Amino acid sequence: MKRSPRQLRQLERSQLSRRGFVAFSGLFSSMVLTSQHVNADLAVNLNVNPFTLGVASGDPDHRGFVLWTRLAPEPLEPSGGMPIQNVEVHWEVATDEQMKSVVASGTHVARPALGHSVHVELTNLKPDRWYWYRFRCGDAESTIGRARTMPHPDSQPEKVRFGVTSCQNYEQGLYTAYEQMAKDELDLVFHLGDYIYEYAAGRNGKVRTHHGQEIMTLDDYRSRYAQYRSDPLLQNMHAQCPWILTWDDHEFDNNCAGEISEQKDVDPVDFMVRRANAYQAYYEMMPLRIAQMPTGSDMRLYRSAQFGQLANFMVLDTRQYRSDQPNNDKKSPLNEAAWDKKQSMLGREQRGWLSSQMIQSQANWNVLAQQVMMGTVNRSGDNENPQFSMDQWPGYLYERKQMVEFMRDRKIANPVVLTGDIHTNWVNELRVDDRNEGEATVATEFVATSLTSGGNGTLKPKRLDAVLANNPCVKYHNAERGYIRCEVTPKQWKSDYMTVDEVTKPGGKTFERASFVVESGAAKVHNA
Ligand code: FE
Ligand code: CA
Repeated sequence: MKRSPRQLRQLERSQLSRRGFVAFSGLFSSMVLTSQHVNADLAVNLNVNPFTLGVASGDPDHRGFVLWTRLAPEPLEPSGGMPIQNVEVHWEVATDEQMKSVVASGTHVARPALGHSVHVELTNLKPDRWYWYRFRCGDAESTIGRARTMPHPDSQPEKVRFGVTSCQNYEQGLYTAYEQMAKDELDLVFHLGDYIYEYAAGRNGKVRTHHGQEIMTLDDYRSRYAQYRSDPLLQNMHAQCPWILTWDDHEFDNNCAGEISEQKDVDPVDFMVRRANAYQAYYEMMPLRIAQMPTGSDMRLYRSAQFGQLANFMVLDTRQYRSDQPNNDKKSPLNEAAWDKKQSMLGREQRGWLSSQMIQSQANWNVLAQQVMMGTVNRSGDNENPQFSMDQWPGYLYERKQMVEFMRDRKIANPVVLTGDIHTNWVNELRVDDRNEGEATVATEFVATSLTSGGNGTLKPKRLDAVLANNPCVKYHNAERGYIRCEVTPKQWKSDYMTVDEVTKPGGKTFERASFVVESGAAKVHNA
């Protein structure tokens, strides 16, 4: 929802921290605050690069995409080390990487109320082509980023290539895999959540250490995002191509469900204030459209993206609207509580939206880009003592069943589910009842492991043989770190499981561990 200038000013005033005011009042109190003055003053007084967080693009359509940056000369400081002042930022878009043929340019006012973030929505570009962009503030120039528009919605593209990533705990590993991803010639990146972790410094700090305590305030969330985005490999990957992002729990609080905290003694009002902080910092830090700007503790993140008639990506939010995990969020059998009809992962509005998206889609591949595993997998591998995750779709079985039945009965073309969260790789064939091997497969699920969370992984997870033997839906499982690289044509979907052998030290090697194919028209998955 759009905020009025008055609302923005109010928000700004409410965020004038005493500390920020004292630090900068001397600098700015006597100035006439035209943009030139502010910029000139910034350039002189800060004498540092305000573009420490790099550049990014996201949420492309066939007419444009979002350009993003955030001014933060001191990324870990409150307000990124910026004065509490509006600052003008110039942007330009060119058709060449030397930025010689500029086809669009303009000025954006970066406001303290939004952490001096810059979100520019381009709407007049040509479909299906690459562009380059950069920002300027005073004398400072950002690095040059690369972005692309989607093909026209009526066109029949020959292929799309994209990466699928999630779960990048900063303390547990280096972002080495993004070095390989940057060479993969991708059109898009999907990030499926746990972009940051909210924990206090040192909780998982083996490789490097979070800044500060468990994050609660807006400044806390801002500086945590800034710390993550200061990583040069992550920053570089954002500059390579547009990203389409959704969150999971750790962007806010571990295993949160709707308005319910994991810790049951948290004051519900405090919890919603914290969520408002988390959502605002997320919006500020990501290349999102104005339609995603939060209103207090609400933020509409589910949305779709179309790559011509080749693929329709439906990006879900399985955190904000879900009902509480059943069985006290403990691993459980598929009991009555897990089957409760009142359980919902998506909430009614998102369910309705998803159904109409699927029905109206003309696309060859209908892709759900979401967070938690949909495969009904008994993680113990022991049918006598079954253990299903209640934080994932097995805790919301009735809704899951209805959704897969819907895909089957409405003959939704080639449904594919992309998933993160679980810190391990999986390939699952989805049925209305995954436990019943006799049923037809309706969709394929590719679950991407974590990029770093969990530290160095293993090729052979615990109980691998038992899990494979007792879960007919599971076609592959591996516990290394990495991401998935997909290449999709009208005839075939191919997912390469890219894994990295070392995340706790520099110099890890990333390679293709396994590769799976789905032919258009057949939900069965097989080795490439
Ligand atoms: Fe995670
Ligand atoms: Ca998670």
